[in-house]
Amino acid sequence: MDVLVIGGGNAALCAALMAREAGASVLLLEASPREWRGGNSAHTRNVRCMHDAPQDVLVEAYPEEEYWQDLLKVTGGITDEKLARMAIRASSGFRDWMRRHGVHFQPPLSGALHVARTNAFFMGGGKALVNAYYRSAEKLGVQVRYDAPVDRLEIKDGRFVAAWVGDERIAAQACVLAAGGFESNREWLREAWGQNERGEWPADNFLIRGTRFNQGVLIRFMRDAGADMIGDPSQSHCVAIDARAPLYDGGICTRIDCVSLGVVVNNQAQRFYDEGEDFWPKRYAIWGRLVAQQPGQIGYSIIDAKAVGRFMPPVFPGVKADTLPELARKLGLDEAIFVQTVGDYNAACREGTFDHTALDDCHTEGLTPAKTHWARPIDTAPFYGYALRPGITFTYLGLKVNEHAAVHFGGQPSDNLFVAGEMMAGNVLGKGYTAGVGMTIGTAFGRIAGAQAAKAALNSGATHAAAH
Ligand SMILES: Cc1cc2nc3c(=O)[nH]c(=O)nc-3n(C[C@H](O)[C@H](O)[C@H](O)COP(=O)(O)OP(=O)(O)OC[C@H]3O[C@@H](n4cnc5c(N)ncnc54)[C@H](O)[C@@H]3O)c2cc1C
Repeated sequence: MDVLVIGGGNAALCAALMAREAGASVLLLEASPREWRGGNSAHTRNVRCMHDAPQDVLVEAYPEEEYWQDLLKVTGGITDEKLARMAIRASSGFRDWMRRHGVHFQPPLSGALHVARTNAFFMGGGKALVNAYYRSAEKLGVQVRYDAPVDRLEIKDGRFVAAWVGDERIAAQACVLAAGGFESNREWLREAWGQNERGEWPADNFLIRGTRFNQGVLIRFMRDAGADMIGDPSQSHCVAIDARAPLYDGGICTRIDCVSLGVVVNNQAQRFYDEGEDFWPKRYAIWGRLVAQQPGQIGYSIIDAKAVGRFMPPVFPGVKADTLPELARKLGLDEAIFVQTVGDYNAACREGTFDHTALDDCHTEGLTPAKTHWARPIDTAPFYGYALRPGITFTYLGLKVNEHAAVHFGGQPSDNLFVAGEMMAGNVLGKGYTAGVGMTIGTAFGRIAGAQAAKAALNSGATHAAAH
C-alpha cells in the first residue's frame, strides 16, 4: 500500500482523491459504519471561497485580503499567516476540482443571504458532498474500509511505519491523518473544561453537534508520541442549541436563532447578557459559551408573537403559553422572578424604529445587562420559550504543520506522515470561527497532504526499486 488515509470526512477524502490521482494506491480507514460515514463534514453546508469577481454561485467579490482580515479578526491574531493565505488562495480554485468529483453547488436560500458573497453552498449539503467524494474515490480505485477505528500508529525516527486497528497491522509508505478533533470525547471535554466555582462539571451538560466518532484517539496518541502540537485544548467552537437535541449528530437543524428578538434567562429566571449586542454569526459564536457559564449550563430564549416569522424556525416548536406566568411554569422557572425579569425588561425598552437587518435604535435604558438593539417589550401573546444548551462544534487542539501539511517532531517535519482538516486546523484557526472556514482548511490541506503523501510514497518506492 502506498498511502494510508485515516479518517472518512472531507479532509480524508480530499487527501485520498489527490493521492490516487497522483498515481498512488490508497486505502482509507473510516472509524464509523458506512451509514455514519463522513464525520462532521456530513453536517456542513458551505465552504468559504475567495474570488475577485462574481463566480457561479458567488456574488460580487471576496478578495484574499478581505478573507485574511476576517480570519485575523476572529482569531485575534492566533493564526499562521503563511498557512492561512495558502488556504485562502487555494479556495478560489476549489469548486472546479470539487465538481469534477461530483459535488454540486446551489445559490444560498433565504435566511443565508448574508453569506451569498463569501460562501459557496453544497447542493444537498455536506452529506451529498461526502457521498459524491466516496463515489468518485471508489470509481478511481481507492479502497475504503468502514468500522476501522485506528487506535495507534507505529512511528520510527519521525517516519510513519504502520497503523493498528485492534490486532490488525496495516503498513504503508506514507500516511495522512484526518481523523477530526476530540469533540466527541466527553471525558476529554470534561477534563479540558474542568470544574467551575459551583462545583459543576460544565462539559457534562454539553451536546455534540456532529459525529460521535471524533474521539481524539490519534490526537492523544500523537501528543504522547512527541509530535509538535498546536492549539489550546480548552478551546472549542461552541454555540447555543436546542436543549432537546440528541447528544450527537443533531447537526444544524438544532440551531435556535431568536436570541436577538427577545430575552434569554438562566434557570434562576435572570437575564445575563446583552441579547442585542450583534448580528449572527458573531452572536451565534458567543452564546454557547455564555450558556456554559450559567448554573446547570442551561438558558431559555424567550420571545413573543411579534418575533414569529422573523427568524429561521427551529425544527421543534417552542414551549407556548398565553401568559408569562404560564410560560414560566411550563419551563420550570420561578414564576414570580420570571415575571419580574420580563417586566423590568419591558419597562426599560426604549423603542425606536425596529429593524432586524441593522443595529437599530431599539434599546433598553437603566437595565443591567442592557439590551442594546432590537429591544421591544415582550407583551404580545402567545409567548414562546426555547431551552438552550451549549453545543460543541469542534475542538482546536491539533498537530503543528508546515506548508506541506507534514507532522513535526521536535521542529522537524516528517517525510511521510501528513495531517489535514480538524486535526491541524488550529494552525490557521487558533480560536474563533468564521462560517465556512473549516471546509476551506480541510479542502486545502487535505489536498496538499494527499499530494505530498503520494509523492513521498512513490519516491520511496523508486528509492527501494533502485536499491534492489
Ligand atoms: C453541525 C456542524 C455544521 C458545520 N457546518 C460547517 C459549514 O457549513 N462549513 C464549514 O466550513 N464547516 C462547518 N462545520 C465544521 C466542519 O464540519 C469541519 O471543519 C470539517 O468537517 C472537518 O473535516 P475533517 O475531515 O477534518 O473532520 P470530519 O469530517 O469530522 O472527519 C473525521 C473523520 O475521522 C473519522 N475518525 C475519527 N477517529 C478515527 C480513527 N481513530 N480511525 C479512523 N477514523 C477516525 C471519523 O469517523 C470521521 O469520518 C460544521 C460542523 C458541524 C458539527
